[in-house]
Amino acid sequence: MPDQRSRFDDLLRRLGEITDLRRISGLLSWDHETKMPPLGAPARAEQSATLARLTHELGTSAELGALLDELRDLEESSDHDSFEASVIRVARRDYEKERRIPGELRAEMSRAASLGYRAWLEARAAGDFEILRPNLDRRIALVHEYVACHEPFDDPYDVLLDDHEPGMRTADVAAVFARLKDELVPLVAGIGEPVDASCLYGDFPAEHLRQFSLAVLTCWGMDDRAWRLDDTVHPFAVGLSGSDIRITSHFDGESLIGLLSCLHEFGHGLYEHQIDERYSRTPLHDGASSGFHESQSRLWENIVGRGLSTWRFFYPRLQVAFPQQLEDVPLDVFHRALNRVAPGVSRMDADEVTYPLHIVLRFELERAMLAGDVTPADLPEAFAAKLREYLGVEPAGVVDGVLQDVHWSDSNFGYFPTYALGNVISVQLWERLIRDVPDLEQEFELGNFAPLREWLREHVHRWGRALTPPELLERAVGGPLDAEPYLAYLRSKVAALESS
Ligand code: ZN
Repeated sequence: MPDQRSRFDDLLRRLGEITDLRRISGLLSWDHETKMPPLGAPARAEQSATLARLTHELGTSAELGALLDELRDLEESSDHDSFEASVIRVARRDYEKERRIPGELRAEMSRAASLGYRAWLEARAAGDFEILRPNLDRRIALVHEYVACHEPFDDPYDVLLDDHEPGMRTADVAAVFARLKDELVPLVAGIGEPVDASCLYGDFPAEHLRQFSLAVLTCWGMDDRAWRLDDTVHPFAVGLSGSDIRITSHFDGESLIGLLSCLHEFGHGLYEHQIDERYSRTPLHDGASSGFHESQSRLWENIVGRGLSTWRFFYPRLQVAFPQQLEDVPLDVFHRALNRVAPGVSRMDADEVTYPLHIVLRFELERAMLAGDVTPADLPEAFAAKLREYLGVEPAGVVDGVLQDVHWSDSNFGYFPTYALGNVISVQLWERLIRDVPDLEQEFELGNFAPLREWLREHVHRWGRALTPPELLERAVGGPLDAEPYLAYLRSKVAALESS
């Protein structure tokens, strides 16, 4: 009989292989969205499907199941936070979830995602939702098949949500979102004439903005031995290991928006970069949840990246980089433009106050599609109707309406809510941060972001998936998920704009 130690080593070896395959799959997606020529798509779809099937086979093997059973003693006799107990606990959760899904369904979902992404690009280029619609019909059929693998459940949406926000229930999200909607719909409707944000738009050559963005990220802690920044249509970040962080952006040459998306993706990248190195090649080497991941991108993009103390340091440098556009624009005008609140049709370009309403409407539409109350054919109008109702805006067409996001074409439902949950968590973390590190913003003015990075490493990042999202939040801020600090933050944002 092998002893527990060698069983655990065997487990690590198997989990290492599964993690390698997942990372390779991440590399293929990164390549798909940054480098691959369009005609590579059909072959890439097959490659991704094959990898998904192999990963599924390893992740659901009888040998892995037997090993996890044999390791129950070791898990129970080890401290909850220990490496051994954490690896076994999280691996078991993944195994039990994955066992429910037939390998063929996994491969089919992966294939449909690859083809859906391509159809989305084509539909956008042609301004024609009909190009995407058959893919969406197919994806919804697959979502139903996927959900059916998880019976019994209280709410079918719980199944989808659990993939991104482990343990969270649809009813919990609905309660938080009802609170956000109650508060924000009237707040947004009452906003007067928006501040002038024209200084953010104009001639901002892509290559110059890319260089400036890299300078900011380097100051924040990006290291080009372990990070890359590439161009894409829909910016994202992926960690291929803790020392291979790929972030992407889209510099349009006409605005500073690409900079903000870099700041956002940096937050995701830093999370992956600062996970405890011991967790490499195990299922612990990932964010605690998508919501926690978003809390990091939102914190760097919004709270830090739109903050006055940050720009006291960076703005003179930005003016040097773009003298024609910004030489005559004072810092306070730039800062107010960056914090402008104005309802618009685009989620990606939305300000902090209107942003959550874009998420609430997508969450509601996903649930309606799952229930069959809204079909893909109805979707463009249903989408536009909610934009009118919550934000009082009208999309000019499908490209800035229902086709603006990639998610429904290439990923599963259940992801959108995590964006707004990330906002909520980001403000809870920030409140704690400025209590723990009172001179944080003075340090930003000097260009020193290390204290922020270190606090996040210690209280959030290093844990990876070893703690559940509620455990992590409780330890980091001393309480459960709470929308009130976030709402107070948004109200103060609006008040600051109105008083200035
Ligand atoms: Zn993000």
